[in-house]
Amino acid sequence: MNAMMRYRTAAFVLRCMDYGESDRIVTFYTEELGKLKGIAKGAKRSKKRFANALEPFSCLRIFFSRHRQDSLALIEGCDVLSHFPAIRADLEKTLIASYMVELTDQFTMEGKKNDALFQMLQVFLGFLNSETLVEGLLHFFEIRFLKVAGYGPALDRCIVCKTPVGGESRYMFVPQEGGIRCGSCCMTGNGVFPLSLGTIRTLTLGQELELAQLKRLPLSEQTIAESRAALTAFIRHLTGKDLKSWQVIQQIRRIESQRSNV
Ligand SMILES: [Zn+2]
Repeated sequence: MNAMMRYRTAAFVLRCMDYGESDRIVTFYTEELGKLKGIAKGAKRSKKRFANALEPFSCLRIFFSRHRQDSLALIEGCDVLSHFPAIRADLEKTLIASYMVELTDQFTMEGKKNDALFQMLQVFLGFLNSETLVEGLLHFFEIRFLKVAGYGPALDRCIVCKTPVGGESRYMFVPQEGGIRCGSCCMTGNGVFPLSLGTIRTLTLGQELELAQLKRLPLSEQTIAESRAALTAFIRHLTGKDLKSWQVIQQIRRIESQRSNV
């Protein structure tokens, strides 16, 4: 009854922390089982079994065993599938990859498999590793991630009067309501974010296009600014906080813009 079951699966490292003298507790997003928490015994000492594999956003094939579905997995070993060296060589890319895995950690529950989400991590980290960084990529990740994780905002019609989007040039995004309001149903004041029709169309495409085509989708400065404000507020509303990695990205951007203004 209580026999150990053995598994192997591809997995992204979401988070690691040291545990005791030599162990590490690692949270993965796995292809076969969704989010999974495990202990890598001796990981701080055993260069042979884990080398430097257990680092955030690495893609691994892990071997583990456990007694029950809800028990901590015992990570027995791993092969590195991709360490994403070009991301790690670039500070901004590293921060964005860290943000992607932190979002994944925040919006997923252990033991719930989601193929589309696993595939998104694979594709977006691949883009980030191989392409020149473009800001749009981050917002496409966010909007698509929210949809795949089951929290996608409603961008196809006004959430109050249900009129389909298209008749007006400007809408208001209301994070608490998870959607947009048209001009007639518009709210004013703090906590609402203007989205032009162009931005809504671009974000909708970002949710629906083939993943491979996304990196070629152009974004205007206006779309980037509007998406950033609205999606940041929406994610803050859903999680009740600003994610740590997002705060670091903002701090670095502030420092860089101060430097370029001197
Ligand atoms: Zn309306």
